[in-house]
Amino acid sequence: MGTLQIIVIGGGAAGFFGAIAAAKSHPHPQVTILEASPQVLGKVRISGGGRCNVTHACFEPKLLVQNYPRGNKALLGAFSRFQAQDTVTWFQKHGVHLKTEADGRMFPITDTSETITSCLVNAANAAKIKIQTRTPVNRVTYHRGKYEITLKSGEKQECDRLLMATGSNPIGYQIAQSLGHTIISPVPSLFTFNVRDTQLNQLAGISLPNVKIKLSVPDHPGLEQTGAFLITHWGFSGPVILKLSAWGARILHQHRYQAKLQINFLPHLSPEEIRQQLIQTKEEVPRKTMFLYRGVEIPHRLWQYLLSRANIQEQVRWAEVSKRQINQLITELTQGQYLVSGKGVFKDEFVTCGGVDLKEINFKTMESKISPGLYFAGEILDIDGITGGFNFQSAWTTGYLAGCAMAI
Ligand SMILES: Cc1cc2nc3c(=O)[nH]c(=O)nc-3n(C[C@H](O)[C@H](O)[C@H](O)COP(=O)(O)OP(=O)(O)OC[C@H]3O[C@@H](n4cnc5c(N)ncnc54)[C@H](O)[C@@H]3O)c2cc1C
Repeated sequence: MGTLQIIVIGGGAAGFFGAIAAAKSHPHPQVTILEASPQVLGKVRISGGGRCNVTHACFEPKLLVQNYPRGNKALLGAFSRFQAQDTVTWFQKHGVHLKTEADGRMFPITDTSETITSCLVNAANAAKIKIQTRTPVNRVTYHRGKYEITLKSGEKQECDRLLMATGSNPIGYQIAQSLGHTIISPVPSLFTFNVRDTQLNQLAGISLPNVKIKLSVPDHPGLEQTGAFLITHWGFSGPVILKLSAWGARILHQHRYQAKLQINFLPHLSPEEIRQQLIQTKEEVPRKTMFLYRGVEIPHRLWQYLLSRANIQEQVRWAEVSKRQINQLITELTQGQYLVSGKGVFKDEFVTCGGVDLKEINFKTMESKISPGLYFAGEILDIDGITGGFNFQSAWTTGYLAGCAMAI
């Protein structure tokens, strides 16, 4: 029997992890990566603002899966075999040390994605993996236990096992479909929200560590998230918004990115506690103007903006504020309504929700239940995580499991 031939289409995070795991298995198969671009690992290079947020310091599979709006059930078993701790160990064994930031995100200690790309390329070279760049694949057919791969150049290659790791590329979806798979329609995830309000947009740069936001669209119960929040020149960003964009990716797409937000700027206080703080301020500093003297702990310019939303004029002194105005101010502080008018760009991370239907995949091996010898890993699957290193983690996990299984 000749050497087992394995082809990996796509030289990204998932493709490399799959190829390396396969090439290291016994007996050693011949592994080839076919990559369309001139350079491999393009997204790893630009990821995390050039620092590569490799994974997240969440080492309990049951908790880890909670960060995946799509794929959480299927990933539970996969993470019990290869999870974030295994990623840390894998990179450590290959000479890369990761550090954890205060919010749990893990980066190489060098703070450059170059450390990760060179580690993966070195590991692939050491495992004698053949890497062919500028080699876009156009078509794949299955015939009598072999996969025939047709390149854009017209050249053909053949293999016994095939790993599809083409990310969110439409040709990858087409190939998967041609081999009998269902594609859940792809839509963007991880984006910022546009909110048209010139006065608000002037507050760009203001951030709050903990804000609770409810997002609603017609005929949907609504989504709620809590976390750090940032006002930008065009609307809202920050982890709480990115989480809403991920969990709401599909409904927001269906509603053309038009939605309502209800914001609680002080989720740690009840409306009654806020009222008491405001009344206390009124008693303590009756002669001061409300614009210049805040009644609660929020950034000053945001306080002034919320006063104007509550129809409290600049010259109003604390002694003059009416009960009705206090009520209106509490509403603005705890349940102010904002309209999302579109989606913006989050430049540090971006993923596609949708892809190969997970029901058609065996998550122990990442093998197709439809076409034997065909495997899937990474973003081509209908899996995506919130921002924070979770997207690479699912690429490492599915790539590793596929690589180990396909070499046997
Ligand atoms: C700007 C940006 C920053 C990000 N930062 C982070 C981060 O810090 N942390 C995190 O967890 N996630 C991050 N992500 C998400 C992460 O990059 C993806 O989840 C991850 O790259 C998916 O890996 P993959 O291998 O499945 O796909 P990809 O990385 O997209 O790799 C697929 C590869 O297949 C190749 N290919 C496609 N079609 C073909 C074809 N027909 N023939 C041959 N080759 C083909 C492509 O050229 C590509 O190289 C970021 C994404 C972006 C866009």
